[in-house]
Amino acid sequence: MKTSFQIGRIMGIPIRLHITFLLILPVFVLAFAGNPAPFFGDIQPAGLRYMLSTAAVLLLFAGILVHEVMHSYFAIRNGVKVQNITLLLLGGVSSMSEIPRNPSVEWKMAFVGPATSLVIGGALVFAYEMVVPGFNAGDPYLRLLWLTGTINLMLGIFNLIPAFPMDGGRILRAWLAGRMPYVQATHTAAYVGKMFAFTMGIAGLLIPNIWLILIAFFIYIGASEEEKGTEIAFTLEGVSVRDIMSEDVVSVPPDMSIAGLVDLMFEEKHMGYPVVERGSLIGIVTFSDVRNIPREKRGEVRVSDVMSPRVLSVSPGDRAVDVLKLLNSNGIGRTIVIQDGRVVGIVSRTDLVRSIQLLS
Ligand SMILES: [Zn+2]
Repeated sequence: MKTSFQIGRIMGIPIRLHITFLLILPVFVLAFAGNPAPFFGDIQPAGLRYMLSTAAVLLLFAGILVHEVMHSYFAIRNGVKVQNITLLLLGGVSSMSEIPRNPSVEWKMAFVGPATSLVIGGALVFAYEMVVPGFNAGDPYLRLLWLTGTINLMLGIFNLIPAFPMDGGRILRAWLAGRMPYVQATHTAAYVGKMFAFTMGIAGLLIPNIWLILIAFFIYIGASEEEKGTEIAFTLEGVSVRDIMSEDVVSVPPDMSIAGLVDLMFEEKHMGYPVVERGSLIGIVTFSDVRNIPREKRGEVRVSDVMSPRVLSVSPGDRAVDVLKLLNSNGIGRTIVIQDGRVVGIVSRTDLVRSIQLLS
């Protein structure tokens, strides 16, 4: 299932909107229009109220986008490849090919985002103060200026909290990494993130406040994922596809019947097979492609009817950690290894997980 949509490019980086982001937009507009000053609940007529609320939400996400673009800009300047920027439910994510394990680059790359938010927010609030000192609920457009400035300030401050997955967590890790091994620094920063989420969740239950609980939940998940991701990248360092692929590849012809394929699956105990016609790879067929075909039809349906013709392939020299990312980001379980146009192996998620377990 496609979970995000590309809306354009900035500096060559694809900008994507995640489904959760599209779902939350109207919720935010309603929240902004339904709450009193400094929001827009008291503004009349209703048309103006919703227009201002929509503008505030769009400006909020423009602020998040600029924040992410600055991370990416700094990353590119330091030779890190940025694959895309995705706007999610609660903020944005710049996905980078690899995060530099050079603490002095990492902390600057993390700091530039919140610094940008603080500068934007500070400038807008300052501009507001130039016109009307102190918050004044009078002019609705000035209120939009103040609100946008304040939101950017909060975005900057929130991201400086020294806990994963916030930028502050990266800054903390970079600081720790100068004093202890990188993996240990990651564990510590993730632990701080989890404790922070835990405290926030308890506070949310006591007050009670559903937003605090939700944010605590996302922080907890983010901290765990960051920890796991770093651990895997470290474990798989120096491991290439060649080291972990299964070489005894059994390929099937496109005109094979599904009944024959199912027999083969039982015999070989593999769940996925490359489909090869006259020596070249034309697709891949897996257990999930045949599972739903009724038993009585399995004699007449052919492999070519159900296979996926779009095959993602890798080379034996590719890095194992990149293959894991490829499988995860495409939601697939295995990929074919090709060298000089020939199928030389197959790598599955199981192979990767097994080598992670063996190596760690
Ligand atoms: Zn950031």
